[in-house]
Amino acid sequence: MSAKHVYFFGGKTAEDTGLDAKGQKELLGGKGANLAEMCRIGIPVPPGFTITTEVCAAYYEQGKKIPEAAVPAIEEALKKVEAAFGGRKLGDPADPLLVSVRSGAALSMPGMMNTILNLGLTDASVEGLAKKTGNPRFAYDSYRRLIDMFGSTAMGCEHEKFEHEIHEMKKAKGVKLDTDLSADDLKELVTRYKAVYKAHVMDDFPQDPKKQLFLAVNAVFNSWNGNKAIEYRRIERITGLRGTAVNVQAMVFGNMGGTSGTGVAFTRDPNTGENVFYGDYLINAQGEDVVAGIRTPEPIAKLHEDMPKVYEQLVGIRSTLEKHYKEMQDIEFTVQEGVLYMLQTRSGKRTGTAAVRIAVEMVKEGLIDETTAVKRVAPDSLNHLLQPQLDPKSKVEVVAQGIAASPGGASGIVLLSAEAVVAHAEKNPNDSIMLVRKETSPEDVAGMHLAKGILTSTGGKASHAAVVARGWGKPCVVGCEAMKINEEAQTITIAGKTVKAGEFLTINGTTGDVMIGKVPTVAPSMTGDFATLMTWADKGRKLKIRTNADAPADAAKAREFGAEGIGLCRTEHMFFGKDRIAAVREMILATSTDDRKKALAKIEPFQKADFVGIFEAMDGYPVTIRLLDPPLHEFLPQKDNVEGTEDVARQMGVPVSAIRERVDELHEMNPMMGFRGCRLPVVFPEIGDMQVRAIIEAAIEVKKKGKSVLPEIMIPLVGVVEELTMLKKRAIATAEECMTKAGIKVEYQIGTMIELPRAALTADEIAAEAEFFSFGTNDLTQMTFGFSRDDIKGFMPTYLKEKILPVDPFQSIDVKGVGKLIDMGIKLGRESRKAKHGQHLKVGICGEHGGDPDSVVFCHKVGMDYVSCSPFRVPIARLAAAQAALGDTARDK
Ligand code: PEP
Ligand code: MG
Repeated sequence: MSAKHVYFFGGKTAEDTGLDAKGQKELLGGKGANLAEMCRIGIPVPPGFTITTEVCAAYYEQGKKIPEAAVPAIEEALKKVEAAFGGRKLGDPADPLLVSVRSGAALSMPGMMNTILNLGLTDASVEGLAKKTGNPRFAYDSYRRLIDMFGSTAMGCEHEKFEHEIHEMKKAKGVKLDTDLSADDLKELVTRYKAVYKAHVMDDFPQDPKKQLFLAVNAVFNSWNGNKAIEYRRIERITGLRGTAVNVQAMVFGNMGGTSGTGVAFTRDPNTGENVFYGDYLINAQGEDVVAGIRTPEPIAKLHEDMPKVYEQLVGIRSTLEKHYKEMQDIEFTVQEGVLYMLQTRSGKRTGTAAVRIAVEMVKEGLIDETTAVKRVAPDSLNHLLQPQLDPKSKVEVVAQGIAASPGGASGIVLLSAEAVVAHAEKNPNDSIMLVRKETSPEDVAGMHLAKGILTSTGGKASHAAVVARGWGKPCVVGCEAMKINEEAQTITIAGKTVKAGEFLTINGTTGDVMIGKVPTVAPSMTGDFATLMTWADKGRKLKIRTNADAPADAAKAREFGAEGIGLCRTEHMFFGKDRIAAVREMILATSTDDRKKALAKIEPFQKADFVGIFEAMDGYPVTIRLLDPPLHEFLPQKDNVEGTEDVARQMGVPVSAIRERVDELHEMNPMMGFRGCRLPVVFPEIGDMQVRAIIEAAIEVKKKGKSVLPEIMIPLVGVVEELTMLKKRAIATAEECMTKAGIKVEYQIGTMIELPRAALTADEIAAEAEFFSFGTNDLTQMTFGFSRDDIKGFMPTYLKEKILPVDPFQSIDVKGVGKLIDMGIKLGRESRKAKHGQHLKVGICGEHGGDPDSVVFCHKVGMDYVSCSPFRVPIARLAAAQAALGDTARDK
């Protein structure tokens, strides 16, 4: 608890809190701490004081009452402000001091809390202001704004009622703009505003400036727990703050004629990061006017012509602030009759591209060191640099928003089925296609792969569409509920507008935006500053970063992004290829082992060729190949897909009834817990044999070319060690056979995924057999919570809103539950492997969490050897892993 409730700042001083920068921010809020700091370093700031966040906490503890001891402290501080600002008294009828009352928590919550300007105006002081400034229009305009702001934020009047009055007044006077109203009109408007106020509050607008002040302070404290602010903290995961501080500061006016003005600026370009002064200003205007867009502001460089002295001073302040904070700043300033005042500085929000450039350039300029640069860039913001982006120069109209599932921008012609995409792409390989579905399933992958972007009306971030699209780095928006699909009419409707199949639609997978029509894109590259930052990150991290990739092209892309191996190659994705799906279906329809083997023999060369491609692309880095995982029915048309069933029957040369019967036989009530994973090769060992043969023979072939290979055969969904024992024995026999035949030995390992709680609980037994563990946290989360990973839409939003869960556990590891199983699994597994074989058990993660920065931090803490994520998240994971190792990241603040 701080000894003082209120801290004064002004002139070239600020009262000392005796705390470090972090402590000051917690006590005075970001805005208050920075105002005080600016005073200390000699930057001109109108005097004021900050009521601490602790007073806010006490306000709530005492049942929404300003603590008694704070009252005299506020009065005392007000006197200091009056003295520091020419001795003018708050609301003095002759020459009033006016103040602004603003919120400011330790973390910025823009626009979420209340602000009251022009406080101190009364019926008497408004006249004083009019005389003093010689501008009654300005005085009455300020007064009516105060009544509106004070009434609606402090006393709960409806802002619309005030708006209605000004609207009526403009109508009666036949004018369009507020600025067209005369001083007399505004005077009349003040009378009407006061009537609105009285009708709601049942009392007159307070004519005692101090009463106004205390009510305004209450209003700011109350806004801390307003719905908007609570919701914002929930979304931004802001927890553990004591409350908001309140900043009371002398008002300065930018609308006092041609030598006054106001502006907002960034010390560098927040879009590109370029080291240029970037911002806007308006002469003879208040801050509100810059934001409201009534007048078009001028670029900051032009201030050089309008007010050369002020411009020079501002350029000096820009450099002082950057040198002091060693960070790009977002500033607000006002010039009152030729005198410059700074009203705010804070670290500026920026795009990922700008974040990287600024961090790297600041190292080159000697402002920060490499470690600080690495800590400063939020890993997720790298998304911005990794995807083709919608050209920022193009104008777009967003018609709906879904969940941003896989970043990047894409435009394409709408097609409503994967088959339609395949058919269209065959004839028009150069067309960009947008696959639009209610949801996707594994049988859609061929079409998904050919599409430029994917849009679904249902599903969340771990839905099939999202996972697959992210794996390929394909822009994808899911759960766009505002979109209705009419397959019969071959149209979709979004926000009342109809788009026909064949017409263009655009998605922004980074934001979830959906737009009708075509928007141009620009390509990503990992060069320049981005590459430099990644080299610095690599110096700091301990975790290795692998990728989830199923095709040589994806593996090569991941290598470009710095992947150090493949952590998950899902072999089933290879089964869907146009040239192999027929053989896969033949294998499923086979009624005897011999027939099954015949079909598998057709698949084997394809598998082997794919593995050769992947081993070559990974150039000696380890490659974990998972044996077939999904239930077999996923490779057949779904039950109600009549056309698909008929097509497959025709292609296979079997009666439709044969397909139907097999689909019926394979139908499962709960396929995620059904006949899948290692259960498949336990029952049909020949499937596993074929895959192991393809892996080892591919490895032999690559080794023969003089390249090194490190295959890791991974057995999925093991829950009982005996499953692994059996399959491992068979895999070793197959591998040995291949090697004997070829007369060449290759190094390989056999390990397992830990995807079932039972596997984690018996990890010691499993590690006796497994040479490595890879945590499949998609299934592990599903099985631990008992939440189907594809069916959380109905309840997850409520769970998050009601704070039953802090985050969606499919996005970020549930540290308490799933995390406990992982931690336990690693410890049990490592101890056992060491004791029984004297070996280090290699442990990684290959669920979607491997690309989530918070989960990467967790993986670092529990001592994993690597994380594996989709190719386009590799740089994000590299940076997150570095930050985990360096500790205390920008994200912690
Ligand atoms: C997992 O379950 O986390 C995993 C990587 O496997 P899949 O997503 O293919 O089930
Ligand atoms: Mg799994």
